Amino acid sequence: MKNSLQSSVQYIKGIGPKRAKSFNKLGINTIEDLLYYFPRRYEDRTNFISISRLQEGQIYTIKAQVLAKGEHQSFRRRGFSIIEVAVGDSSGKIFCVWFNQPYLKEYFKVGLNLILYGRVEQYAGRLQMNSPEFEMVSSKSDESLNIGRITPIYSLPQGLTQRYLRLIIKYVLDEYLLQLNDFLPYDIRSRCNLLNLARSLINIHFPDNLERQNEAYRRLSFEEFFLFQLPLVLRKSKKKEKTGISHKVGGELINAFIEGLPFRLTPAQEKVIEEIKSDMAKPPAMQRLLQGDVGSGKTVVATIATLIAIQGGHQVAFMVPTEILARQHYSVVSRQVLGVRDDIKIGLLISSINKKEKEKIYKEIKEGKVDLVIGTHALIEESVKFKHLGLIVIDEQHKFGVGQRALLPAKGTNPDVLIMTATPIPRTLAITLYGDLDVSIINELPPGRLAVKTMQFSEKNKSQAYEIAKAQLRLGSQAYIVYPVIEESYVLDIAGAKKMYNELKSGEFKEFKLGLIHGRLKQNEQDETMLKFKQKELDVLVSTTVLEVGIDIANATCMIVESAERFGLSQLHQLRGRVGRGRQESFCILLSDAETPQVKARMEAMLKYNDGFRIAEEDLKIRGPGEFFGRRQSGLSELKIANPLTQMQLLKKAREEAIKLVHADPKLEMRQNVLLKEKLLQRFPEHEKLTIVG
Ligand code: ADP
Ligand code: MG
Repeated sequence: MKNSLQSSVQYIKGIGPKRAKSFNKLGINTIEDLLYYFPRRYEDRTNFISISRLQEGQIYTIKAQVLAKGEHQSFRRRGFSIIEVAVGDSSGKIFCVWFNQPYLKEYFKVGLNLILYGRVEQYAGRLQMNSPEFEMVSSKSDESLNIGRITPIYSLPQGLTQRYLRLIIKYVLDEYLLQLNDFLPYDIRSRCNLLNLARSLINIHFPDNLERQNEAYRRLSFEEFFLFQLPLVLRKSKKKEKTGISHKVGGELINAFIEGLPFRLTPAQEKVIEEIKSDMAKPPAMQRLLQGDVGSGKTVVATIATLIAIQGGHQVAFMVPTEILARQHYSVVSRQVLGVRDDIKIGLLISSINKKEKEKIYKEIKEGKVDLVIGTHALIEESVKFKHLGLIVIDEQHKFGVGQRALLPAKGTNPDVLIMTATPIPRTLAITLYGDLDVSIINELPPGRLAVKTMQFSEKNKSQAYEIAKAQLRLGSQAYIVYPVIEESYVLDIAGAKKMYNELKSGEFKEFKLGLIHGRLKQNEQDETMLKFKQKELDVLVSTTVLEVGIDIANATCMIVESAERFGLSQLHQLRGRVGRGRQESFCILLSDAETPQVKARMEAMLKYNDGFRIAEEDLKIRGPGEFFGRRQSGLSELKIANPLTQMQLLKKAREEAIKLVHADPKLEMRQNVLLKEKLLQRFPEHEKLTIVG
């Protein structure tokens, strides 16, 4: 029997189990995956430029023959080798140089024909290519896939060559394309002027010309956007259909709460509270995303929404990403809420409480005795059942996956949902990602906040940074020193943080009281340290990224970030948001020596901007959307070639088409949408399928 598109790649002629493993490592498992394994770039090999015409500073593809080769040892560092190969064509010659790849010496036999791709540079008075990518040209076999055309260049699975991969992909295109049905309905394709699937796949791999390549790219990008938008639009329409709760949004309790606050709400806060009230008053369930920069005061907005739900007898689940943050919210919200009505019952549910306590709180939640439960992802566990869940708040939502986000609402009957994030993003992108949500924005900080003064020091000037911190401490303020342990699991990094803590404690900061906190400590130890810091029993908190999100201690005015190059830009901004929360001037000091362009761009952005929207924009530019949102969490890993930043128009079109289609066929039952439905369901795990169709 013939293989299907879903068969494993190992059954393809020329692959086999061993090579299949290399493919699998790159996520290529099925034959279809191979078709969708797109080139990372192309080379126009229809005409090669003559070597005599090469100019300094440009990138070229040349075709040339190896004339001679040599190898040096570097004088400066032993064990550092340089391979130098002279190559030439009929017009002239040029040197190609590779560093530290001694095994290449065997490869470059004199007389060998090569295609080389790289930047031409001036060195010691002559032109050379540094570490060009190269490929052998065979004299025997048919070279039609490799030269004389626009040639695809792939990221290579381990141990395989470009030539081999081209051959395999060509084979798969020839053999399997007929099995491939275009799942995009014809009228969408024709309205949007899209190439059909088979031709797109051929031309993304082996374009007839650049124009065709462009069309293929456009069609396949559209496809990605469309498949990304469709589930969002379906979810939204499903939710709108159902009747949720009409909350009573006015009343004494809310007014008393607002009057009792130690500050006045900002106009921006008032505006989003109105938006939330209007949602909550209406029967359809609220699906709202609240964006606001670090420190803009989202918590109090969420608390007001909470009170609205509670006053009508509903329960509220408030989910946050870390236990430290859960405890902080628990204590702040309890204080504020109980100040206006002391019969409201608030519970805390985190993984680290003991079994007995857990059982107790499960029971209270189930019987409706708890009005508000604040917790971590422990809230989404099976055993948590609510009596009448009326509102869900998810704080710092970027720390949760899409799947996790979807689980909580299932615990009620169409509860209202408020999702909050401190990583604000441009509006169009917000729609891409959160197409199933309405968006509110808090676009100002409470009055009186000063911009955090941000500086960068090199490691060797570290002591200057410490002096700034010490000056703050002597004024009675507190400081954070952050050490990069990105995943909280790298034992070595934690050891590093401990070591630094011990050194600082007995060295630079010996006149002060220091505490250490990291994710591997027991929960009660973390809490104890946090509490001590809050109560000013500690002056300095040495910490890993556990305090990245949400922590709110106004007396902390200085943050030092060690090895700042290891943090992403948005993460640095989040960290910086831990200071500058009071009225005193605050400092954020980045320690870093790293010089790569990416790191420099991040540091510069931090020094230049204090505004989270600007920072997010820069971060997006530097990293691209996939990395920015976290591929897995956001589902953006589905976007392999489409780029929301550069293809905004196409994205909008895809979204419009998705809306149109869902409007006409909300369950994807029409004949022309059958393939599409199949394709869509293929992409989702069982438990999520129902939230989309059905
Ligand atoms: P985030 O939006 O980062 O979650 P928080 O809700 O933690 O910000 O608020 C940051 C701090 O600002 C808190 O201490 C909070 O009490 C305070 N705050 C919130 N709203 C106001 C306001 N309108 N005026 C003054 N301070 C405020
Ligand atoms: Mg917050």
